Amino acid sequence: MNQDIYVVIEHLRGKVTEISFVMLAGARELAKGSGGNVAAVLLGHNAQGLAGNLAADKVLYFDHSALAEFTSDAFQKVLTELISKDQPRVVLFGSTSIGTDMASTLSIKLGLPLVSSCRSFSADGKFVSQICGGKIMAEGDLPGPTALVTMVPGGYKAEQGQSAQSPAITQVEVPALESLRVTLANYIEPEAGDVDIAKEPILVSVGRGIQNKDNIVLAEELAQALGGAVSGSRPVIDQGWLATSRLVGKSGKSVKPKVYLALGISGAPEHVEGITNSDTIIAINTDPAAPIFGVAKYGSEIDLFDLIEVLTEKVKQSKGG
Ligand SMILES: Cc1cc2nc3c(=O)[nH]c(=O)nc-3n(C[C@H](O)[C@H](O)[C@H](O)COP(=O)(O)OP(=O)(O)OC[C@H]3O[C@@H](n4cnc5c(N)ncnc54)[C@H](O)[C@@H]3O)c2cc1C
Repeated sequence: MNQDIYVVIEHLRGKVTEISFVMLAGARELAKGSGGNVAAVLLGHNAQGLAGNLAADKVLYFDHSALAEFTSDAFQKVLTELISKDQPRVVLFGSTSIGTDMASTLSIKLGLPLVSSCRSFSADGKFVSQICGGKIMAEGDLPGPTALVTMVPGGYKAEQGQSAQSPAITQVEVPALESLRVTLANYIEPEAGDVDIAKEPILVSVGRGIQNKDNIVLAEELAQALGGAVSGSRPVIDQGWLATSRLVGKSGKSVKPKVYLALGISGAPEHVEGITNSDTIIAINTDPAAPIFGVAKYGSEIDLFDLIEVLTEKVKQSKGG
């Protein structure tokens, strides 16, 4: 039986996405127990260069102009054939719009079990999955013979899935990609917005716990004192308390500040996805069970309103007023 762990690499505009490296790190853990290899499955066009730093034993590369950008139609055709033929032990997808699209349809098409929102694995084939929006961690055994899995960030650092040594690339024949029903017409870049939160060294990020728009000024004062900017979680943006350009997470931006101060943010997987590359995450949340504490280096259960103004004052004082 094939004990290999396959990782379906996601890439966008010529760059491998962070979740792909996180998946490779998870795959390495699983491969320790299965005894198989970690194979990165790369679909693209003239995209061999993307394989350079993938921490995989081998790369299965499919090159075709119809695979240059993700479309459900073309990718399904390639992966259906690959998985049915090779029957690997596990196939990992990102818990992203692309990964969820592929994993769920392949699960139905191939009649294979799908485990969603996995955060980490152990060598004996157990998984930990973040369910109910990250409020519950469920543990289980990966079903067989082939398990399809979607993975959320948070369990591994992206660097763990990177390697200085280039893996061996095997170019695999692409099945006939005729009569595709979906093609990419155009790629629309999101608007840059006022501040690029992806480039800020310090982010004071607010969640629903900030309560209302009038309180945003408290976060702005703290951010200003620290020399950073304000960002927020989805409810804060949806209610119009902050501009869309300040959204952190799956539907917003991935950020990598030196310090990410999360005030009143629960730490749902869709939010955490955007903060895992921060150097230091500090979480302030009154709920000790909030999942944000699982990714934070430092945390406090203090009420954010008991902290924020005092902290702003202290920072100002330490900078000499
Ligand atoms: C397809 C999809 C995409 C999504 N994309 C994103 C995304 O890009 N970014 C994103 O953020 N979300 C996204 N979401 C939403 C996400 O699932 C969560 O609903 C959202 O992140 C929750 O935001 P929150 O943590 O601010 O709110 P909540 O989950 O309501 O958490 C508020 C937290 O504040 C704490 N709190 C309350 N009062 C205080 C206080 N006084 N002091 C300290 N702590 C306090 C509470 O204990 C609680 O943990 C997406 C969801 C879906 C389905």
